Amino acid sequence: MPQALTGPRLQAIYQALRAHHGHLDWWPGDGRFEIAVGAVLTQNTAWTNVEKAIARLQAEDLLAPRAMLDCPTDTLAEAIRPSGYFNVKTKRLRALCTAWLENGGEQGLAGLDTDPLRERLLAVHGVGRETADDILLYAFERPVFVIDAYTRRILSRLGLVSGDEGYDVLRGTIEQALGPDVALYNDYHAQIVALGKDTCRPKPRCGACPLAADCPTADQPGSA
Ligand code: SF4
Repeated sequence: MPQALTGPRLQAIYQALRAHHGHLDWWPGDGRFEIAVGAVLTQNTAWTNVEKAIARLQAEDLLAPRAMLDCPTDTLAEAIRPSGYFNVKTKRLRALCTAWLENGGEQGLAGLDTDPLRERLLAVHGVGRETADDILLYAFERPVFVIDAYTRRILSRLGLVSGDEGYDVLRGTIEQALGPDVALYNDYHAQIVALGKDTCRPKPRCGACPLAADCPTADQPGSA
């Protein structure tokens, strides 16, 4: 378990990020199902591509589980083409829709406790831990801290983790350190994504980073 991930350190990082970016007001999406669809579509692609796919789904009245299941496969695949890997994601969306309806729709899923809800989501074809936790946090407002590649990169450069911890070890450690707080987890993950995309990139821009003063790898060769 990463000992350096203490509550005060994690809070200080969050405060510095929030002061830098402002509150980021995530997740963009109108309702639980649309957020879940976005979580599947954003796998391996930029959010701007997801927005185009969601706009096309909206235009064709396909942003509902029954409509997605009933429409021809080619129609669904064509609608989500901008998100990339559209044949793979078509299968994943259909699996999500089937599970959504089999579990009583939004109301049935919302009535489940967090652990059984995670199990139902993880049982869906193509839904891994990160996607399931995106859905748990942003669609169902559960106190679940999402771990993604940006989280690992930033925390390891800050010297707080090795970067190869298991997903649930890292998630559990951070959740224990911060305590259950949906609003905090929501914005914290958004802050991490913003830093990872714009500043703590593969070649980091440490000169523009609000965490540089306490980062042991800041301004090492390769950073700009
Ligand atoms: S100072 Fe540089 S390496 Fe450290 S977190 Fe910021 S961008 Fe990443």
